[in-house]
Amino acid sequence: MSHIFCVANQKGGVGKTTTTVNLAAGLAAVGQRVLMVDLDPQGNATMSSGVDKRKLLLSVYDVLLETASITEARVPSRWGSEPSQQKMPTYDVLGASRELAGAEVELVGLERRENRLKQALAAVDAEYDFVLIDCPPSLSMLTLNGLCCAHGVIVPMQCEYFALEGLTDLVNTIKQVHANLNRDLKIIGLLRVMFDPRITLQQQVSEQLKNHFGDKVFNTLIPRNVRLAEAPSYGMPGVVFDPSAKGSQAFVEFARELVERAPKL
Ligand code: ATP
Ligand code: MG
Repeated sequence: MSHIFCVANQKGGVGKTTTTVNLAAGLAAVGQRVLMVDLDPQGNATMSSGVDKRKLLLSVYDVLLETASITEARVPSRWGSEPSQQKMPTYDVLGASRELAGAEVELVGLERRENRLKQALAAVDAEYDFVLIDCPPSLSMLTLNGLCCAHGVIVPMQCEYFALEGLTDLVNTIKQVHANLNRDLKIIGLLRVMFDPRITLQQQVSEQLKNHFGDKVFNTLIPRNVRLAEAPSYGMPGVVFDPSAKGSQAFVEFARELVERAPKL
């Protein structure tokens, strides 16, 4: 059975997509079979996996509207031509294209609309160890489809004052989905990202998080690292683009932490 995790935070620009693709690449690097689902019409996770969203024949949009299966719509990630990049294992991508933005409206009025992705994933459950879903920065029908099929939510967050405030909304949404739609759903962990230990406020917020959420805070810290920010313009996760970068190493370490934690969740 695969572990299905949403990477979600309704706050924009907190590192959801960076986390999803680097964790996918990190998990693949440690031998896990991974499917990455891009539920964001921006398609950044698709592009960051070396898949051109403008050239996709089938996407997660077709899967949600039930005009294609995941087996038909998935494509493998593609890396650069450097030998070190070519050697990196790939993962499967269920990509997003622009038309996904319309899915929100098209799904209204359809039956089982929040369960479309869950049903589609059931058919490929045995083929993956991990399914990672990159959610858009909203609590929309698309995010709801992600939350309805997931066993857990990974919440990337920056250690800033307002990050804690935003968390309350997400926690409430997850509680509601848990109560009404998906009994399996829980927050499996908060991931501190873009961390800069030189900034006192970040250390303080990091401590507050630990005190408040205990072992729900992942041990691995993802540092602010320019290589992670550069990688998407080459169509790769940092883990593939520059495996020796501090940020890339942190994501592989995070992948190991998740592999260790997953069976106990
Ligand atoms: P959105 O809400 O728009 O989907 P997001 O939450 O997916 O955004 P990202 O796109 O992953 O956020 O990251 C926002 C920006 O921060 C990007 O430019 C990304 O390259 C950069 N970034 C993310 N993580 C790091 C990091 N650890 N170090 C440096 N830059 C980072
Ligand atoms: Mg994103």
